[in-house]
Amino acid sequence: MKLHPACKDCGHDLSMYEHADGPAYIVIVLVSTLVVTVSALVEVKLGWPFWLHALVWLPMVPLLSIWWLHHARAWLIALEYKSKQKDSR
Ligand SMILES: [Zn+2]
Repeated sequence: MKLHPACKDCGHDLSMYEHADGPAYIVIVLVSTLVVTVSALVEVKLGWPFWLHALVWLPMVPLLSIWWLHHARAWLIALEYKSKQKDSR
């Protein structure tokens, strides 16, 4: 996924923000922790059969990852923007 060179609303230059694997790392840690924890709880409390776990959790991992990747990237850009604002004062 490529970042737009500038903000569509205000024209702020976004080319200075490059996070490489930072957002992906955050998303992998969050999604894997969430899915493993919730699926283990469901297994203990409800005792789902394996096919139901596979049906629910296997699509959940890529869907949550793709959805949260945008948010993680936006969050890191906002942090960097805020940090640069502080530094320039
Ligand atoms: Zn903007």
